[in-house]
Amino acid sequence: MVPVIALVGRPNVGKSTLFNQLTRSRDALVANVAGLTRDRKYGEGKVGSHPYIVIDTGGISGDEEGIDSAMAEQSLLAINEADVVLFLVDARAGLTAADEMIALHLRKQGKKYHLVLNKVDRVDAEQAETDFASLGIGGAYHIAAVHGRGVSNMINNVLLECSDGETDESDEASVKPRGIKIGIVGRPNVGKSTLVNRMLGEDRVVVYDQAGTTRDSVYIPYERFGQDYTLIDTAGVRRRGKVSESIEKFSVIKTLQAIEDANVVVLVLDAREGIVEQDLHLLGFVLDAGRAVVIALNKWDGMEEEQKTNVKEELKRRLGFINYARIHMISAKHGTGVGNLYDSIEEAYEAATNKLSTNRLTRILEDAVKEHQPPMVNNRRIKLRYCHAGAMNPPTIIIHGNQTERVPAAYRRYLENTFRKVLKIMGTPIRIEFRSGD
Ligand code: GDP
Ligand code: GDP
Repeated sequence: MVPVIALVGRPNVGKSTLFNQLTRSRDALVANVAGLTRDRKYGEGKVGSHPYIVIDTGGISGDEEGIDSAMAEQSLLAINEADVVLFLVDARAGLTAADEMIALHLRKQGKKYHLVLNKVDRVDAEQAETDFASLGIGGAYHIAAVHGRGVSNMINNVLLECSDGETDESDEASVKPRGIKIGIVGRPNVGKSTLVNRMLGEDRVVVYDQAGTTRDSVYIPYERFGQDYTLIDTAGVRRRGKVSESIEKFSVIKTLQAIEDANVVVLVLDAREGIVEQDLHLLGFVLDAGRAVVIALNKWDGMEEEQKTNVKEELKRRLGFINYARIHMISAKHGTGVGNLYDSIEEAYEAATNKLSTNRLTRILEDAVKEHQPPMVNNRRIKLRYCHAGAMNPPTIIIHGNQTERVPAAYRRYLENTFRKVLKIMGTPIRIEFRSGD
């Protein structure tokens, strides 16, 4: 499971600054799903190949009334969702009453947490540590978020700690997923539960009864036409009515973890509402995680012709940038088009996990370079010599050459498009990485 780290602290201690540092390593930088849950900002980051989720909160100021109390509530919810809490204080400003109050809160919550002294660039860190000693939290991290100082050391330690506790944490019997892992994802009310029920309720579907439960989502293994799948149900269909159901029906964490853990994400949209900002945020996360994706435009039943035309126009306009993703018009309610989703799921999975040969890739690269040379930098032409496949799901192509760190974004896109076209890769993002020989 992707670990979740919450940043708490009173306003101005540097939470946003740290948030930006921690979520920087991803291509799309800070993807922000603020519209989904007000005041809590979610981002994703990575150390090596280990992803993590960071939640930034409004902050707790100490005398909670009005807006402040709403913020405090968000902080408490974030703490609830987190595996580890980083409690930020301002080393320069010294200990305040608000810090003491937060410390008290944290002790009561029973979550793992660490004290983080930020802004140590301006003070004697030892002195500051003494100042905060009365909080009774030992082993503080010292960082300067603005300069990124101490940040990677801290995150490495925190992730290590999270992976240590992993094995015995999952609450119910963890089931080994079978076949393609399909994540059903979308904002509230687009029809995820209806779709999950529809998919599992099909005649030819045999649902194995040992569903696995993680802290958040339910993993449902099943078989269809002799093929194994595991459906990651973020809507909590199979969990309703159980005590363990979370307060919120929709949770960003649940969604992000399902995206991270799926092979193929089915992003469900509501045709009646068109594409809204939140849909694009979610899609951003899917692409950022490099997941294969199929788009299900749901509630296509009983739509007026004009309405249909408008939605199609909108799709073209707003989703044109992922023209490699298949779009299905479906009705989860009536079952129309639901079976066809599998063709695209299979196709996307194959594309995402296909083995690409070094020869083939290098030949495509050579042709692409011949057709359109990379630019000159400092009077020397960027040289791209050969390439080979890296990781799968998403398919990664590693290109070796000289001055590759200078390859312009437009040229990278050109290469990506060329690989996609020649290899006929549908349904999945492609990652291009460069390695430089000089
Ligand atoms: P938040 O309200 O907790 O999210 O705090 P911000 O991230 O907005 O930071 C508040 C102010 O502190 C900003 O002006 C930051 O530039 C500054 N700040 C954050 N981190 C550091 C740091 O490590 N050193 C210094 N000197 N200033 C910092
Ligand atoms: P979730 O929050 O994404 O799990 O959405 P639900 O599955 O709970 O559906 C939200 C509402 O949309 C419910 O009232 C459903 O009956 C309705 N709904 C779901 N799928 C369809 C569909 O294909 N067509 C129509 N007309 N309504 C649907």
